[in-house]
Amino acid sequence: MKVFVAGFQHETNTFARNPTVWEDFEVGDFFPAFSTGQAMLERLRGGGMPLSGFIDQAETEGIDLFPSCWAGASPAASIADDAITRIFERLLADLDAALNEGDLGGVYLDLHGAAVSDSHDSPEAWLVAEVRRRVGPDMPVVVSLDLHANVDNTLLDAADYAVCYRTYPHIDMADTGARAFGLLLRRLQGAPRPACAYVRIPFLIPIISQSTRDGPGAETYAFVAELDARHDANINVALGFPAADVANCGPVVWAYGQHGRSDALGVADRIISLRDVWRLDILDAAEAVARALTLAERTEAPVVIADVQDNPGAGSDSNTTGMLHALLRAEAGILWPGRVILGLLNDPAAAKAATVAGIGATLDLWMGASIATWTGAASEPPVKCKVTVRALHHGPIRLDGPMMRGAIVNPGAMACVEVEGILVCLSSAKRNCSTEASTRRSGWTAPS
Ligand SMILES: [Zn+2]
Repeated sequence: MKVFVAGFQHETNTFARNPTVWEDFEVGDFFPAFSTGQAMLERLRGGGMPLSGFIDQAETEGIDLFPSCWAGASPAASIADDAITRIFERLLADLDAALNEGDLGGVYLDLHGAAVSDSHDSPEAWLVAEVRRRVGPDMPVVVSLDLHANVDNTLLDAADYAVCYRTYPHIDMADTGARAFGLLLRRLQGAPRPACAYVRIPFLIPIISQSTRDGPGAETYAFVAELDARHDANINVALGFPAADVANCGPVVWAYGQHGRSDALGVADRIISLRDVWRLDILDAAEAVARALTLAERTEAPVVIADVQDNPGAGSDSNTTGMLHALLRAEAGILWPGRVILGLLNDPAAAKAATVAGIGATLDLWMGASIATWTGAASEPPVKCKVTVRALHHGPIRLDGPMMRGAIVNPGAMACVEVEGILVCLSSAKRNCSTEASTRRSGWTAPS
């Protein structure tokens, strides 16, 4: 008996500027590149993806796999129809082949849950329903989802189990795949398909207040763990990805089994009762810099400003200059020369110019871009100034933080340039600054 496995990851920001095309899945980068069959198993095995956790657990338990395909691309705007058709057609052709072989026992799909294509608001729900249609009502189908999934009811109806990450930042991706394996195994060993109860929350939650390390996110998931331990209801909360103008956008709670309905309602009530706490007070760039400079006087530890408004991990391009202007206006680099760092600013032309100039060179450089914001006004202009090239890097970076540990990303040519005492890490592609490795490899080293 074999279990069919495949993965498809994309978080679609329908307000973003750059569409997602087939070439983005070929590169992957944020995720492993497109791969199929045995090559897919080899690429994902032992890694940090949910599919990695599933593969590792299945191989430990001696369950044979039918590997189909893996496709993942950086968050961006809507997925081109030809790209998603190509991926889904391959996956479904493999599924038909597995069914024709005659010894297929179950299906596992590693999905994000917030993908949007040019023609479909919830292509993943369509996919899971289509898989269900092809395998019939009795074969176990288990799906794992990102905590930012905009879960469609169709998906929950079609799958035996859908399981969701419980951490943001996502440090339990592989663990979620392993959890999906455990639930599939339960079904393969004869446990009946459980009923699923779901509750949609009637408001959106900003991504920046969804952290599970503290605040309402931590409280919510602690409550989930408490109820789960009591009832084995496998409770899931997808807090949703609000930057998506689709009908199924928003948080959803779902749970399984005898206590599923009361547990889902209980968790939903808790989330709703925290209504006022989910809304964070956000500082503008000038306020954040002023507060950081005050804090810096009082501590030896680094002071970190999270500039979340241009987050490449949520579909933006990481090329705006508001924070750099604020740091320059406050003379942060003159107050703390060589100890203020900004990264990653995605500007291929500036990174290339600094690379050509070489370490130690001084040159006039334009950095960043001005883009149309949601109000229609342009963001701050590019920064034009004299910079000195402090360090250069070219080539892949292995992420070494707790999220996606071991993943290889390639920001292209990188340069660390100094402007008025501020070190600016330039990259040639938009990449999350999710680990220190992202900035360290541009040549910057942490002050001792
Ligand atoms: Zn996410």
